[in-house]
Amino acid sequence: MTATHAPVVSLVGAGPGDPELLTVRALRRIEAADVVLADDLVDPRVLALVKGRLLRVGKRGGCISTDQRFIHELMIREARAGHRVVRLKGGDPFVFGRGGEEVDALREAGLEVEVVSGLTSGIAGPAAVGIPVTDRRASPGVILVTGHPGEGRAEPDWAALARTGLTLVIYMGVARAADITARLLAAGLRAELPAAVVSAAHTARQRHAVTTLAGLPDCIAREGLASPALLVIGEVAAHAAALQQWPEVMGDGREVMAG
Ligand code: SAH
Repeated sequence: MTATHAPVVSLVGAGPGDPELLTVRALRRIEAADVVLADDLVDPRVLALVKGRLLRVGKRGGCISTDQRFIHELMIREARAGHRVVRLKGGDPFVFGRGGEEVDALREAGLEVEVVSGLTSGIAGPAAVGIPVTDRRASPGVILVTGHPGEGRAEPDWAALARTGLTLVIYMGVARAADITARLLAAGLRAELPAAVVSAAHTARQRHAVTTLAGLPDCIAREGLASPALLVIGEVAAHAAALQQWPEVMGDGREVMAG
């Protein structure tokens, strides 16, 4: 294929799961792509929208993963060959998605990069179970933080985060929940502070539980709540219990239960 456009790579956010949560621009880029490099977290229903070549380049913590440099080289090679390249990432590409590193690598290679924002799981995930991450009656703000900063990188200052009194939404925190909980309790957060876990939000496997900060590690183990999951710590987490599952009306008029 000959290049009919400037070499451009689109970093596209796939949202948390359900393809109906893609942005219109994300859908257009996915459908127009010659090649799509997709992360493990991208929902199979979104992958099914790909019309070009689909390359799975997952970087799952703990599993054998594709080297980040290899991903950069692959994107650069495909874009220079004149192909429309979409780098498809779960949620938003700039929220714990290595989007910044990929933009730098592509720009250094002289390529144009476009970023298509997606719904981040840390906001859409809690919302799926009725949790508003901010609520002026309970929390004037929210902190999005990783529970797994990565080999050799600084641990978040959990005591400082606890002192803010803001909602904490912790990505990649399930495996380290006991440790994180202990640090937050040691920093003075109440044992009875509401906490929630939302697993695989907006996917067919969505599950959640509401508990207290002190009860969080046991709750995760008891309920078998697995990654990908978000920990939500703060008064707003209590809202999950009040959630109603309204029937969702399909395009053909059928009613199904959401979630
Ligand atoms: N860029 C993504 C985050 C990637 S980091 C975003 O904006 O959502 C991977 C972590 O995101 C997972 O370990 C989990 O904490 C969270 N995550 C991603 N998708 C999720 C989903 N559908 N449900 C719950 N958590 C999810």
